[in-house]
Amino acid sequence: MTTPYLSIVIPVHNEQEILPILFERLTAALDAYGKAYEVILVNDGSRDQSAVMLDAYQKLRPAEFRIIHLNGNFGQHLAIMAGLEHIRGEIAVTLDADLQNPPEEIAKLIDKMEAGNHDVVGGYRMDRQDSAWRIAVSKMHNWVRAKFMPRLIMKDEGCMLRAYRKSVVELMVLSQEASTFIPALAMMYATNPGEVGVKHEARSAGYSKYNLYALIRYNFDIITNFSLTPLHLFTLVGVVVSMLSGLLVVYMFIRRLIIGPEADGVFTLFAIVLLLISIGLLGLGIIGEYVGRIYQEVRKRPRFVIRQIVE
Ligand code: UDP
Ligand code: MG
Repeated sequence: MTTPYLSIVIPVHNEQEILPILFERLTAALDAYGKAYEVILVNDGSRDQSAVMLDAYQKLRPAEFRIIHLNGNFGQHLAIMAGLEHIRGEIAVTLDADLQNPPEEIAKLIDKMEAGNHDVVGGYRMDRQDSAWRIAVSKMHNWVRAKFMPRLIMKDEGCMLRAYRKSVVELMVLSQEASTFIPALAMMYATNPGEVGVKHEARSAGYSKYNLYALIRYNFDIITNFSLTPLHLFTLVGVVVSMLSGLLVVYMFIRRLIIGPEADGVFTLFAIVLLLISIGLLGLGIIGEYVGRIYQEVRKRPRFVIRQIVE
């Protein structure tokens, strides 16, 4: 068996409608590109026919295909991590199973990587084919991320069509965090990252695994995972609010001495108190996000469990 140059890593969760076309287009594109490759498909706890279908494709292309079956649904990023732990190639390429990242674009990433001697090449979606609200959420997400994590320079963090050199993958695998975000993690280790525009297609079948709640969680998670800015901001807000409250107390005290007791303005008082309470609650929530993350880490449960590797 020759060692592959490219390792394609694809997470799969309930994608039975798509897998046949994925298999066709992926093998055609990679065969045409002509570089030695392997494909690692990670079955992330699919409950449809995906597992059986993946094993069948492995039998069709035993030299190139490997299937990792996880012991449950651990989420897209940990599924990719499970795949990255097993690459044999010099360059790992991740993409979604649903063909929203066209496999024909893989060559573009590799060419860019080789031409610029990059260690990470991220794709950004040109002419993105998703619902308007998804694109709006992404825009917001990328804006917030750029503000909170200025070191993570990327146009489009949600684009999973990306290439990583083995040296970066090894560092990513070493960071045994309980939850992780592959593109952001890679940027922590990249020394010479590059970006290239890639095509994007609408999901032709199956359904998106991210609903609004999952997207909101994703936004919180990635920020608390890579940044302490929310805590610092909150401390700042706390300082400013305490100073203003202190001034208010002094002012009220002086008024009391000059004018005497006053009963009016109760609702203003309510408004101020409610504002202070809600700021307190917000702070608790932010601290809770970090405590939850610490809790996950100290439990030291395995991040994912591999049930079987078919190769
Ligand atoms: N996926 C996964 N585990 C999950 C959710 C998704 O492995 O728990 C895979 C899914 O099969 C697909 C990729 O992650 O290959 C992206 O998922 P999806 O297309 O649903 O996300 P979207 O494109 O809507 O962001
Ligand atoms: Mg998709």
